[in-house]
Amino acid sequence: MAAVTFEGVTRRFSPTSRPAVDHLDLDIGDGEFLVLVGPSGCGKTTTLRMLAGLDPVDEGTIRIGDRVVDGIPAKDRDIAMVFQNYALYPHWTVARNMSFGLRVRGVPKPERKRRVLQAAAMLDLEPLLGRRPSELSGGQRQRVAMGRAIVREPQVFLMDEPLSNLDAKLRVQTRAQIAELQRRLDVTTVYVTHDQTEAMTMGDRIAVLDQGVLQQLGTPIELYDRPANAFVARFMGSPAMSTWTSRVEDDAIAFGSRRIEVPRAVVAGLDGAADVLVGARQEDLRLVGEDEEGADVVVSLVEEYGSDGSLHGEASGLAIDDTPVPVVVRVDGRAHPLTGDRVRVRPDAERLHWFHA
Ligand code: ADP
Ligand code: MG
Repeated sequence: MAAVTFEGVTRRFSPTSRPAVDHLDLDIGDGEFLVLVGPSGCGKTTTLRMLAGLDPVDEGTIRIGDRVVDGIPAKDRDIAMVFQNYALYPHWTVARNMSFGLRVRGVPKPERKRRVLQAAAMLDLEPLLGRRPSELSGGQRQRVAMGRAIVREPQVFLMDEPLSNLDAKLRVQTRAQIAELQRRLDVTTVYVTHDQTEAMTMGDRIAVLDQGVLQQLGTPIELYDRPANAFVARFMGSPAMSTWTSRVEDDAIAFGSRRIEVPRAVVAGLDGAADVLVGARQEDLRLVGEDEEGADVVVSLVEEYGSDGSLHGEASGLAIDDTPVPVVVRVDGRAHPLTGDRVRVRPDAERLHWFHA
């Protein structure tokens, strides 16, 4: 096992375009489950490929343990990678697929067998060892790909969207299994996904990337409660945080008929700017009576998830030019307003998020 360090790591595919990964600094602890998350094209796969030794580093340094790996070929880095498409050999049995990497490295047969059986037991693959990939379900193939990585007993696991070919229900089951397995094996893991729910549920810590630039590194709850910027605020959390631009007047903003004081530290940080970007999570907005101060929201849709629901609507009296602002409010899933209704909404002022507009 080993820690992993990125120091100023940059990858440019062409001298003219913006770097795919831009001066990335990241310290991953020994045994940590680190999730790298961000929208498609933000540089996740490139980051993983540089760590794996499959892509060169143009600037900066990567360390695995105390070893600088620049120039060390992929096969000598002591990492195992699980790909999105699993990359199994179709004509080989599950057992052979799992043991192949060990054979190549000259691990003796009895040891190969021991490791394959051990990994198969962990992953419930024992009855399937004699089958070929075409005789397996998607979930089973995914487990074989995991098994092949585990038998290597590497210092670091790298996983690039390993659940994206599974259906929604299996994805939820499998993500719990992978997280549990990683904790049991205690092997440093860098897990790439574009899915913020996977990131939130699986990671010890999460690194959020946008356009090749690290936006924030923190525990799931840190990112959720204290997003460093508007990008992280909107990206983490489902449904997305409602955000809008407000005019600051006398150190306060208007939320419909309600006046909300802008926290002192936020006012100081504005440097005299007149506008501020405000954010509210659905659980921090609530319905109030019509005679109470707040903003009017016209309901466009309510999603019910049983006991809870999410009310989507257009709020007036929030934005500077009073264009309607899309907001999401958590409501009771069994008793809530209907599409087309006009409701009054009030925020929990203490829990609003403030960003540069
Ligand atoms: P992600 O995995 O987050 O979707 P990638 O790391 O695959 O993102 O890509 C990051 C950026 O680098 C994208 O703009 C992508 O188009 C570009 N890119 C990736 N691989 C190559 C390549 N081999 N040649 C040129 N550009 C590439
Ligand atoms: Mg990718």
